[in-house]
Order: sequence, then C-alpha cells, then structure tokens
Amino acid sequence: MIGRMQDRPLSLAHIFHRAEQMFGDTRIITAERDGDRITAVRDWAVRVRRLAAALDAFGVAPDARVGTLAMNTQAHLEAYYAAPLTGRVLHTINMRLTAEHLAFVITHAADEVLIVDRSLVPLLAEIADRLPTVRHWILVEDGSGADIPAGPAFVDYEELLASTPPRDGLFEIQDENRASGLCYTSGTTGDPKGVVYTHRSTMLHSLGQLGVDSLGIREADVVMPIVPMFHVNAWGLPYAALLAGADLVLPARSTQPVELLALMQRHRVTMAAAATTVWNFAAPHLDDFDLSSLRMVMSGGSATPSSLSELWRERAGIPITHSWGMTEISPVAVIGGVSAAEAGASEERKVELRALQGRPVPLVQLRLVDDDGLELPWDGSSVGEVQVAGPWVASGYYQRESEGMTADGWLRSGDLGTIDGVGYLRIVDRVKDIIKSGGEWISSVDLENAIMSHPDVEEAAVIGRADPKWAERPVAYVVRRGEAALTPDMVREHLRTLVAKWWLPEDIIFLPELPKTGSGKFSKTALRRLLEGSDATP
Ligand code: AMP
Repeated sequence: MIGRMQDRPLSLAHIFHRAEQMFGDTRIITAERDGDRITAVRDWAVRVRRLAAALDAFGVAPDARVGTLAMNTQAHLEAYYAAPLTGRVLHTINMRLTAEHLAFVITHAADEVLIVDRSLVPLLAEIADRLPTVRHWILVEDGSGADIPAGPAFVDYEELLASTPPRDGLFEIQDENRASGLCYTSGTTGDPKGVVYTHRSTMLHSLGQLGVDSLGIREADVVMPIVPMFHVNAWGLPYAALLAGADLVLPARSTQPVELLALMQRHRVTMAAAATTVWNFAAPHLDDFDLSSLRMVMSGGSATPSSLSELWRERAGIPITHSWGMTEISPVAVIGGVSAAEAGASEERKVELRALQGRPVPLVQLRLVDDDGLELPWDGSSVGEVQVAGPWVASGYYQRESEGMTADGWLRSGDLGTIDGVGYLRIVDRVKDIIKSGGEWISSVDLENAIMSHPDVEEAAVIGRADPKWAERPVAYVVRRGEAALTPDMVREHLRTLVAKWWLPEDIIFLPELPKTGSGKFSKTALRRLLEGSDATP
C-alpha cells in the first residue's frame, strides 16, 4: 500500500520564504570595517530578490555556477540564497587555495558569475586572464581599497542591486535533487574535488541542526559562524539559523581572537562555531570578556584536546562541543557531549566523554570497516575506517563520480576510529597519518592532544619518520605559548604520565608557527617536506 502524504520538494525556497514571512525582525549583523552593520531579514530578503533578478537578467545558464570569493558577510549571505533560489549553483571558493588551484576550481566548476570582496580581488591578479568561463564579475566593496587588476570588467555590487528591481513571487525548485551548492575539498595532494550539495541535502542538514540533541538551533539564538562561508557552507549555519529564525553574526574580516570575542560579547552570541585552532588562540583572552550569553561553542575540523575544552569550561563557563564531519558530509555527522544516560557520571568521566568526537546525529549512519572490507563491532576498541551514509552525505564528486565510495555506496572518510556500544565515535587518526611503530599503532592525534595539554604549548603536530628498526617513529613539531621557556625534555617529562613510553617522540622540534592547510588544519604534508629537508642537512 502506498501512503497518501504530499510529496513536496525539500528546497531552500522554504527557508527563504519562511524567514521573509515570519522572521522579518531577525537581524543579520556584519562586523564591517567602520562598525557593525545590522540589517533586518525583511530588508535583506529584498536584496536577495534584487540579486536573484540580476542573475536572471545576466542571461546565464539556468544552472549556472555562481562563484563567491568572499568573507562571512551579508552580501555573501545574499548570494547563498539568490543563487540556489534561482536554480543556480553557489560555488563558494576557498580563498586560501594557491593561484593554480583557484584557476582550477573556477574553470572546473565553469563559474559564469564571480562575486568577489574587494580585499580578495588581488588573489585573481595572476589568473584573471585564465578564467574563460567567467562572464560577469561583481565587486563587493569592503573598504579595503585593494587594487583591482586590469582585465576583468567588474560591476559594483551595490550599483547592481540598486539598478535591478526585486524579483517578486515565490521561488520554486521543482526537483529537490537539483544542485544548490558546490564546495571543493582543499586536498593536500592532487586537484581539489568538488562536492555538490542538493536542495534536499541542505534542507535536511539544516533541519538536523535544529534538533535539541544536535545543535539545537532555535529562534532565540544568536548564531556566529566563525568558520568561513567558503568552508562547507560555514557548516550549514547560514541556512539552519534562518530556518529557525535566529540572528546571525558574521565576522567579515575580523579574524583576531580578541576581535572575535569582543563581537561575541557585543551581540550576546549564544552559539558560535569555529575550527579548534580559533578556540585555542582565543583561550588566553577568555578572562577579558563577558561570554555569559554562550550556550554552545562548537569545534570541528580537527580533534579538540580535552585540555582546551576544560580551559573554556573553567574560564568561560562552557566546554567546547566537539563535532566531526567532512566537506562530503555537509559537514555534520556526529555531535559530542554527555549522553543522558551519563548525566550523573563523575566529572572525570564527563571530561572523557566530551573529548570523544560524538554520536551520529539522526539520519547519519556510521560503520567501521577493516583493511579486508569486513565490518567491525561497535565495542569501543576495534579500530577501522569510518564509513558514512545518509541523505546529506556525498554519493560521488563532481565529474569524478565513484571516487572515495565503496561498492555499496558508503562514503570512505579516510579516518580511522572506534565506536562504542552507544555510538560514541573516537577518531584515532587519518589513515595516512597514523604512525606504525614496531608493528603497533601510534595515534598522531592522541599524541598531539597529550602534548597540547601542557600549559606552555600553543600547538603541536606529530608525524612519522621512517626508521630502519621500528618502521616509523614519531617526531613532534611544537609551538611554544608566548615567551614560555619550554624545552624538549620538559615536553617529554609531561608526556611520561600520559602516554606509553614507546609513544614518546624521537625528536621534539620547536617552530614559531605550524604550517596550515587551506582549511586551517595542521599541514602534515608541509611538515613531512620540512622533515625531509632537515634530514638532508643534519
Ligand atoms: P574537511 O572536509 O576539510 O572538513 O576535512 C574533514 C576531515 O577533517 C575529516 O576527515 C577528519 O580527518 C578531520 N576532522 C574533522 N573534524 C574532526 C574532529 N572533530 N576530530 C578529528 N578530526 C576531524
């Protein structure tokens, strides 16, 4: 028997019209150079309609890719909606890519329109004459005064909106599987790979973020995505926040921890999301700000050491909520925290639980698979590759359909982990980063967390070095906090109580800072190159 319920497409049009109709007073706050710009959703919606009409008037393809090279700003949020609402595909471009990769992604995606913040225009200088697909160049003024390269005929964004009457009526997306967004994974080797989100996947992911045991995003929230809008749609928050009717605080060019904390204090932010590194850099300044409005500080992108989470709990009154995900998973797969069953557990146990990546949110399925393709039990100790399935998980990459997928359609994460009997995922390492020493595994992530629990350590990354006797041995790169007089022996002494003796790094090398990838993670590829170089000149 077939059920008799309405089969209506899940689409971003619903989020937009709901916000326009019900949350006109909701605020979009952007930290601009000359002060905070506050726009009511009702006025923002008119601007989205103007941009939508402008895209139509350009005469670009019905599914044209609209590239954005932009910070977290109101204009970027306008493109987030105008492009998909008109059937086009929002391609958020990672401004940290190399010039070669920028040219590659823009051309591979065949962007017809590029919307660029003035301060980021110089990134195009080298490649502007190598972007044959781009027909319309739009410049968003940000007060930076950056030079505009010769070549592209930029149209001023504000002039474009002012001269285009808003498109009226309802936006309609007939096919919920139509592409809404495109985001390339930064890829440390090889060309970046495009992940293509659909209206359906984005809508379901947003809805998932409203769940109370997930992010619990609600109308009363003031949501601040610090994670860039070019990185997995700022973890989906620009869509989830407006679905709930929550205010959005967009930091634009504010990147310094003190600026970010001041912004959080100024607007009584309740929920903020950023890569672990941001929360780490903010930690020394926590006593200087009133962060009592916060109910959730969410981290992801790399493991969050429990020492950092505990520091936040002590100083800001709130631990960090861990989550794990990937560009290919929109990105949220699991959310950390203490389960209801353990609400009465000891504080020690809760610290342990919060250090785990978390449990799968509804609709996301996980499994662990060993090298032979056999599924492993959820016993908290069997280590296997984490594979993922669900309605907001990629089924392939743009024009590279089957890469990274299993024959039965699960996404291979490339991460090794364990899962316990109630679904807590613990990420042990990336498959390619785990260190094999004397036939045993050393988790570079666990070792990094142990090193970073030293109060004088700002950051630490561990890689394996080939070793004739043990196959591989760990080498740690460490950044001292401030002026701390930290020595390798002091780090080793600290580790002695935390890890097995054979986990102690062979070498501990201090650096002024660690190289990072396009998405802000420690670049182990760059460290490996550094290590090879230093081997050559002992
Ligand atoms: P990206 O697609 O750039 O978001 O990177 C996804 C990868 O980041 C994952 O496959 C993990 O290796 C890593 N990652 C993300 N979140 C976490 C986390 N909470 N703990 C450890 N690794 C993480």
